[in-house]
Amino acid sequence: MKIAIASGKGGTGKTTLSTNLASYLAEKGEVVLTDLDVEEPNSGLFIKADLVHEEDKFKMVPEWIEDKCTLCGICQEVCNFHAVIQLGKMIMVFPELCHGCYACSELCPESTLPMIPKKMGKLRHFKNHNLHFIESRLDIGEEQAVPLIKQTQDYIDEHFTDDVIRIYDSPPGTSCPVIEATKDADFVILITEPTPFGLHDLKLAVDTMKELGKNFGVVVNRYGIGNDDVINYCNEENIPLLAKIPNDRQIAELYSNGKLIYREIPEMQQELDKIIAYIGTLTKGGLS
Ligand code: SF4
Ligand code: SF4
Repeated sequence: MKIAIASGKGGTGKTTLSTNLASYLAEKGEVVLTDLDVEEPNSGLFIKADLVHEEDKFKMVPEWIEDKCTLCGICQEVCNFHAVIQLGKMIMVFPELCHGCYACSELCPESTLPMIPKKMGKLRHFKNHNLHFIESRLDIGEEQAVPLIKQTQDYIDEHFTDDVIRIYDSPPGTSCPVIEATKDADFVILITEPTPFGLHDLKLAVDTMKELGKNFGVVVNRYGIGNDDVINYCNEENIPLLAKIPNDRQIAELYSNGKLIYREIPEMQQELDKIIAYIGTLTKGGLS
């Protein structure tokens, strides 16, 4: 079972839910929690585990070989991302903008743009009993999250069997990184707040999940602030409302101290149980 936890905007409680759900499930079986918010991963602040493996991650980018270049301009024309441009008698490559599509390299008539590896970030694998925690982090200055997200998912596919529960803490928003992080998920949990901003961004996230054809449900965080518009929207749209995490000062204090909430607050455990029960109805034999 692959469960992605996503939200239309940052700061709604994705990491809180991901870390608590993964740790709670790991009390009963093997779980791999992966922080795919590679631009600023922070699940690791809440997971106490030992580093068992780390590796650099690379993407392929073109390198210009001046000697044979005829300055025909084809490379600049075919690059949709302005990652290769012609400046006078020079071809400039901007690796940070490159999506590694190979178009310029393959279509260069003189074969003067071979693809070479460039380091883009680092993957770390931690373990604490049943809980595996994988974190990938982009290097400073790197702009492309998608290749690192893809390679991190590949690492999980190579190292874990299908019977291990996989939880993806996805990047926020509705752009390419969140699509890459959720596209293979069996179920997506959209977490939001009961405020006008929360509702606005939830609607965008719902549209994205519908476009991807995903099975999804909603968790309301900081329930008690704002109004009931998010609840009413879910009811009107027949979107399963999986759980409501209360707006509680003690939760905020635990979060700010990097602690898991369900271990201290029974209501949090009850809300996690509701999520597990719902997702369990979608899979043979339940979730845990
Ligand atoms: S496509 Fe190849 S030959 Fe043409 S300008 Fe680019 S690098 Fe030079
Ligand atoms: S590999 Fe693709 S994205 Fe990268 S510079 Fe070449 S055409 Fe542009």
